[in-house]
Amino acid sequence: MHPVTVIFVIAVLVHLFVEAWLSRRQVASVLRHRADIPAGFESVISPQEHARAADYSAARQRLGNLEMIYDAGVVLALTLGGGIAALGTWSASVVGAGVWGGTAHMLAVFAVMSVLGLPFSIYRTFVLEQRFGFNRTGPRTFVADLLKGWLLGLILGGAVAAVVLWIMAGAGSSWWIAGWLAWLGVALLATWAWPRLIAPLFNRFTPLEDTSLRARIDALLARCDFHAKAVYVMDGSRRSAHGNAYFTGLGREKRIVFFDTLLSSLGPVQIESVLAHELAHFKLRHIPQRLAAGAAMSFIGFALLGWLSTQDWFYAALGVPSRSNSAALLLFLLVTPAFTWIVSPLLAAWSRRHEYEADAFAARHSDALALAEALVTLYKDNATTLTPDPIYSAFHDSHPPPAARIARLRELGAALATP
Ligand SMILES: [Zn+2]
Repeated sequence: MHPVTVIFVIAVLVHLFVEAWLSRRQVASVLRHRADIPAGFESVISPQEHARAADYSAARQRLGNLEMIYDAGVVLALTLGGGIAALGTWSASVVGAGVWGGTAHMLAVFAVMSVLGLPFSIYRTFVLEQRFGFNRTGPRTFVADLLKGWLLGLILGGAVAAVVLWIMAGAGSSWWIAGWLAWLGVALLATWAWPRLIAPLFNRFTPLEDTSLRARIDALLARCDFHAKAVYVMDGSRRSAHGNAYFTGLGREKRIVFFDTLLSSLGPVQIESVLAHELAHFKLRHIPQRLAAGAAMSFIGFALLGWLSTQDWFYAALGVPSRSNSAALLLFLLVTPAFTWIVSPLLAAWSRRHEYEADAFAARHSDALALAEALVTLYKDNATTLTPDPIYSAFHDSHPPPAARIARLRELGAALATP
């Protein structure tokens, strides 16, 4: 057996083991605190709500664990098990070689992965989310979303695959630099197209009609010297009871989007404070920093791929007997996550720091206590656990643990109230 095969299998197993260990810790921590609400939350969260959040978190964690093992099996079957090789032979016999054959190869592998992932997606929506009262997706919407997603994947995924394969075939040994530039172009195009063309396929966006809330938002934007093109309300309640708010778009074309579920559960001052937090991610340049980090990481990825795609062992050791550009891309996409997960705690820590900075910004320009109230309402409505395991949280959570985050906001609120 090739040493790289052994290294890959070990990496997959180590990853599974670490994730399973973290997940066990998380479930244990959540269930251990099922009956005791953390200090400072007793007046706002009932024992029933707290216990429900614990059960929901544990159920999600267990399902996620099972899915992770299943996914690892799928990846091993596609690589070492010969799935990528077999689909390559099939696409070559149907479409032929070259860019189109390669595109068909990649689409075939993605199609297989997406069909294999369906049972979990169905179970999550119609059993797990249903059991905890979050699901509002009917079978019709589910099927319509699935078909729209597949059609988009076919068109957009096919186009991106064809462009990258075309560059690989024609741009010589330094193709990966051109490939990376094309990738950046696609990412930029997607940021532009997402709010305009793609999101409206799945949800309805209507301008915010509440004039007093709109005036409050405009005052906040003026105070922070921020320009947004429009404020929209999205019918998130069509699919789920989970609430959220976000910004999309670039430059002067930014849009603010509120889920209708969020607007119905928060008061005006709380909504303003949530918006101030989201706005902080732009004002404090978190978004450009993340984009730059993403560009740097994809540069490293393309450089690595440029080198790997010329190495015979890369194919042979990972279950593909004959070299092809599409196989190189597929192997790279499926195999690298077995190694790159190691940096996820760093990214999570970086994100948590941004969250604290955005909270402090919201405290200065809006209202710290209102933001704390809003977050508690969102934790309650989304059945977020208030008692995560510290190691699990440090490893995975992009947001600070609720107790620490709320305590920090209450301190900020108290400090700002007494000058
Ligand atoms: Zn944030």
